[in-house]
Amino acid sequence: MKYYSLNNNSPKVSFQEAVVKGLAPDKGLYFPEEIRPLEDSFFENIEEYSNNEIAFELIKQFVGDEIPSIILKDIITDVLSFEFPLVEVEKDIYSLELFHGPTMAFKDVGARFMARCLSYFNEDNSNQVTVLVATSGDTGGAVASGFLGVKGVDVVILYPSGKVSDIQEKQLTTLGKNIRALEVDGVFDDCQAMVKKAFLDTSITDYMQLTSANSINIARWLPQMFYYAFAYKQLKDKSKKLVFSVPSGNYGNICAGMMAQKLGIPIDLFIASTNENKVVPTYLKTGKYEPKRSVQTISNAMDVGDPSNFIRIEKLHNNDFEKLKNNLHSYSFTDEETREAMQYLYSNSNYIADPHGAVAYLGVKEYLKTNNAQCIFLETAHPIKFSPVLDATIADKIEIPEQIKTVLNKEKVATQISKYSELKDFLLS
Ligand SMILES: *Cc1c(COP(=O)(O)O)cnc(C)c1O
Repeated sequence: MKYYSLNNNSPKVSFQEAVVKGLAPDKGLYFPEEIRPLEDSFFENIEEYSNNEIAFELIKQFVGDEIPSIILKDIITDVLSFEFPLVEVEKDIYSLELFHGPTMAFKDVGARFMARCLSYFNEDNSNQVTVLVATSGDTGGAVASGFLGVKGVDVVILYPSGKVSDIQEKQLTTLGKNIRALEVDGVFDDCQAMVKKAFLDTSITDYMQLTSANSINIARWLPQMFYYAFAYKQLKDKSKKLVFSVPSGNYGNICAGMMAQKLGIPIDLFIASTNENKVVPTYLKTGKYEPKRSVQTISNAMDVGDPSNFIRIEKLHNNDFEKLKNNLHSYSFTDEETREAMQYLYSNSNYIADPHGAVAYLGVKEYLKTNNAQCIFLETAHPIKFSPVLDATIADKIEIPEQIKTVLNKEKVATQISKYSELKDFLLS
């Protein structure tokens, strides 16, 4: 499979090159040259397949022959070593729980898959890469855990000092080995700006292959297709209209869902649910796409003012606004509404949602005011990670999971930096 840049100004590349580079030289996102739907019979008989078999069928055309099938199957087995339960919270409303992985973030799957691909490409030690990533919270932990001990990959994570939760900080500063953390005196945008500058700095890139590990990277983006198939497999009644509500920040996850739909999963439409950062809901209403500086909310993984994957979504709909509007609805909710939804889910269904899942649930409720469907909302993080914003009575009910307990007892190791030159010295030393 070849990938081209959505800016159309770079040569086509292989899967490997797209994964190693992350972004095309013209700064465009890579997109597959072709998307071939699977046989209808595969989805009709999906219950007969294991999760590993389903994942292999979905991803294999995108990897092509660049990773032998037998190795790709091993990678998948390794990546998917936990559950993806579909839980009914109200009649015809389900939560797809994507937080049962090692860092209890849905990003675990993509991070683990990408790490193993890079490791395979570096089998002969010719492709040493440094993953440089800025995090506002959850990406850092998933990347740290996913890449831990992976041969040929060094990871440097920048995070804003005092702006991530204690659990999140522990998850990215306590692992050691090939994972190093930089605690930046600033906000997330400062971390992100330093990372972007480093990617363009030839005095660094002449010495090392830098890559990013966020959802612009195809190896982190595409495995998210699996979730939609795992949910579909678990649905008892597959004859009803099916709608997914996805809590969206950079729109990588929902865009992977649309890829899964292209491959043939019978999904009627998607809801992009978000917080006060509402560039997409506004666009669908007015036809004007106007990126904004992000505002801070309690569902902070969605505090994104200019979602990087939206261009892939437009491409998937042939840049046709009417076509897009038929397949994508989008709503935004305030922190107040999000808190109320968490409270309601708890008292009404005895279900504890994190703020991101709660926003997605609100999207479902909004849609159902004027439509009928079977709806699945994606629960993208374990609520314990957001316990400071949960109502105290609810937070008290959550048992601290093993994965979290183990990091809480470990010692934080981070290097403090405040300016770009310090990042550069750190990378080159
Ligand atoms: C990253 C993240 C999101 C947003 O996912 P995108 O693919 O960026 O849209 C939602 N919820 C949680 C908990 C996240 O960490």
